[in-house]
Amino acid sequence: MSSKYEDVIIGLEVHIQMTTLKTKLFCSCNADYRSAGANLFTCPICLGLPGSLPVVNKTAIEFATRLALALNCKINKSMYFFRKNYFYPDLPKGFQISQYNKAGGKAFADGGIITIKLKDKKKDLQLNRIHLEEDPARLVHKGSIATSPYTLVDYNRSGITLIEIVSEPIMRSPEEAREYLKQLKSIVQYTGISDPNLEGSCRVDANISIKGHPRSEVKNINSFKEVERALKWEISRQKNLIKRGHELIQETRHWDGRVTISLRTKEFEKDYRYFPEQDLVPIEIDQEFIDKVRKDLPEMPNERSTRFQDEYQLSEFDADNLVLDKNIADFYEEGIKSEPSFGIDDYKLYCNWLMNDISGWLNDNNKEIKETFLKPSQLIDLIKAINEGKITGKIAKTFVDKIMKGAPVSEIIKKSGKERISDEKALENIAREVIEENPKIVDDCRKKPSAKEALIGKVMAETKGQADPEITRKIMLKLLQELGIE
Ligand SMILES: [Zn+2]
Repeated sequence: MSSKYEDVIIGLEVHIQMTTLKTKLFCSCNADYRSAGANLFTCPICLGLPGSLPVVNKTAIEFATRLALALNCKINKSMYFFRKNYFYPDLPKGFQISQYNKAGGKAFADGGIITIKLKDKKKDLQLNRIHLEEDPARLVHKGSIATSPYTLVDYNRSGITLIEIVSEPIMRSPEEAREYLKQLKSIVQYTGISDPNLEGSCRVDANISIKGHPRSEVKNINSFKEVERALKWEISRQKNLIKRGHELIQETRHWDGRVTISLRTKEFEKDYRYFPEQDLVPIEIDQEFIDKVRKDLPEMPNERSTRFQDEYQLSEFDADNLVLDKNIADFYEEGIKSEPSFGIDDYKLYCNWLMNDISGWLNDNNKEIKETFLKPSQLIDLIKAINEGKITGKIAKTFVDKIMKGAPVSEIIKKSGKERISDEKALENIAREVIEENPKIVDDCRKKPSAKEALIGKVMAETKGQADPEITRKIMLKLLQELGIE
């Protein structure tokens, strides 16, 4: 840990929408709110009209159980919902139906662990609890929240199921927080309860303090990628104030993508006047139900990594990175399983291509693998073309953009005119020319053997990287030998 952060304390509250649920948490409205025009997926319950009665979505309970088991939390078998009272335009009822772990209430599940790896060191980060709650409506601002002349409200999102994962205040740096979110996102994706890549499906409230000072809460950071930046900014803000002798205050702040802005001060839990939601019956979860969910729990990323190390002989580092995004790991398995001729070397090669060139392209283009035309079989064809000596690895890298857009590998090779040159006669002719044109380098070779590399490099350059490097080397050494250069 760098000393820069040694007195920093970070706790995260992550809200994840269960985007794979068909309906909302307390009504039967369509939960795919992103697909509809504003305010089309609403009913008296999610609009909070007087007299409407909520009924809990049973699948949401099953999904929460899945996540609790995946995170090793202890599920509370008897619980009820609470009303969290506050006034805001995104909340037509004047309260949010949530769970509360005080005043006789219980969270959905307590405890749990997320294991992170930072600089090759493993660390278990403790969770405090996870609980279910409803999403408020969506406020739409023109431009930024601070300068928008008006606010629009879309109630399609009102009543969408959220699961909130609350960590203990145990993270000690923005990097730890980043790794925590990376692992959490992966676990959520594997449970199948949410597509964490959908915009707005994961939102984070971060509590940040410097030891001995009041904390601030940065609300609604809208993507996991932003959290590390927001934390770094807020930590330096707090440290600068302390350095200049100012007192910090407990406050709620907003991250606008560049800086955090104070929203309100002196907001405490008691302000929410939590009390039990009388319109919903208590929830009882029996052991039989938990056992069934556990039995059907999909393979989790850590198990998959271990299996990849066993079955495909990947290193722990490779396997851990490969399994992180389930879609990439699925793509990997589909690919290598479809090619019976592939062996251990190819498994490693396929992994390298996915994690380096393909992932690099996805990052640069801000896309998920599912959003591209790349098929597992294309990567097979590319690796086979390299293995069979049709193209060099270097040339293959220049094909990435085209294969991502779905072009067949054989066609790209044909059109590019970049087949590997392995014809010994042709290469010998080029090598002779290079020797003739570069007497000075040839002379250098007599004094220092490393100068031979420069001549080999010139043949490669002459053929625009298409010359087979091994054959070229063999020919060049033979020709130099004829000149008495060993
Ligand atoms: Zn509704």
